[in-house]
Amino acid sequence: MLKVTIPHLGNSYIPLSALFREVGLEVILPPPISQETIALGAKLAPEFACLPFKINLGNFVETLRSQTIDLIFMAGGVGPCRFGYYGQLQQEILRANGYQVDFLILEAPKTHPRELWEKLKKYLPKHRLTDFSRALSYAWQKAKAVDTFDTLANQIRPLEKKPGATSRLQKKFYHALNAAVLHKDIKKIVNNALQELSSLSVKTEFKPLKIVLLGEIYMVLESQVNFKIEETLGNMGVEVKRTIHFSEWVFEHLLLSIVKPNWRQKQFLLAKSYLDNFVGGHGLETVAHTVDAAVNNYHGVVELAPFTCMPEIVAMQALPAITKDLGIPVLPLIIDEHSGEAGIRTRLEAFVDMLAYRRSRSRGGELLEVVSRN
Ligand code: SF4
Repeated sequence: MLKVTIPHLGNSYIPLSALFREVGLEVILPPPISQETIALGAKLAPEFACLPFKINLGNFVETLRSQTIDLIFMAGGVGPCRFGYYGQLQQEILRANGYQVDFLILEAPKTHPRELWEKLKKYLPKHRLTDFSRALSYAWQKAKAVDTFDTLANQIRPLEKKPGATSRLQKKFYHALNAAVLHKDIKKIVNNALQELSSLSVKTEFKPLKIVLLGEIYMVLESQVNFKIEETLGNMGVEVKRTIHFSEWVFEHLLLSIVKPNWRQKQFLLAKSYLDNFVGGHGLETVAHTVDAAVNNYHGVVELAPFTCMPEIVAMQALPAITKDLGIPVLPLIIDEHSGEAGIRTRLEAFVDMLAYRRSRSRGGELLEVVSRN
C-alpha cells in the first residue's frame, strides 16, 4: 500500500486521514509538533521563510527519519504570497538533504477540476468516482463535525464551572471521531459529544468578553504553534470567535472558487475603506473581519501572524485606522520560532484586562469583575 504523509494543520488530520484511508492509501502522520520539529525545519529552511514553511519541513523530516514514505501530499496555490512555492522548495530542500521523496502538490482547481482529478487518480488505488465521492463524504462529515464542536466549545469554555471540563471533552471527541469509520458511527459520536458539551455545568450569571480570533490560517488553526490560544483565552473567561475553519476553507477553495468566482465580494466590501486589494493569504479577510467585529460589537480582536508573513504585515498596517474609526481594540501577535508561551500569555492577559476595564467604563463606571481567573 502506498504510504503517504501530510503536514500538520490543526485538526485537519482527522478528515484527511479518513479521505486517504477510503481511497486505499496508508497515512503516516508526522509526530506532534514540538520544539524539536520547529528547530529541525528552521535549520533547513531559508532564514526568512515564513514559520509555517519551517514547521511543515520539520514535520516531513521527523516523519522521514522514522518511516519510508512514498509520497507527500501538499497543498499549493497561486497568488501574491509565498504559499504557492512551498511544495517545490520543500521537495528541493529535502532532496538536497538526502531525503528522496515525491511530492504531490494539489492546487485549487478553479476552472479545470478535471485536470486535478486526472493528476490525483494516478496515485489512488481506489479511484472510481464512487470511491472518491464516498471518501470525500466521510472527510467532509468529519471536517464539519470538528468545526461544529470547536465553535460550541469556544462558547462554553469561559462559562464552565469545572476548569478544564470543555478541553477534556474536546480531546475525547477528537480521538473518537478520528477512529470512527462508518457514517452512522460518526453521527452518533458527534451527537453524543455535542450533547455532553451542552450539558456541562456553567455559570449562567457570567458575561464573558467576546474576542474575534483572525489572521494567517496556519497560525489560527494550529494550536501547537499558537500556544493553544483558544483554550488560553477561554480559561481567562473569554468567548472566542474563530474566523477560519478548515471545512470552510476547503469549501471556499474547492467549490466556491469554481462555481462563484466572486465569493470574496463581501470581504472586499467590508474592507474597502482600508484595503482595496486581495493581498494573498488571509490579509483581506483579516481587515474585513476586523471591521465586521467592530460593527457587531465584539470587545476586541486578536490577530495571529507568522514572522515575515507578507499578507498579514500588509493587513496589520490597516488595523490602527479601523481601531481609530470604529473603536475596536486589536492585539497583533507575531509568532516565530523564538516565541515563548509566557510572553504570549502575558500579552493576552494584559489585553483581556484592558478590555474588561474598557467594558466597565462603558457601563458607566460600574465595577466589573476582572475576567481573568488566574
Ligand atoms: S500567508 Fe504568510 S505565512 Fe502563509 S504562506 Fe503566505 S506569506 Fe507565508
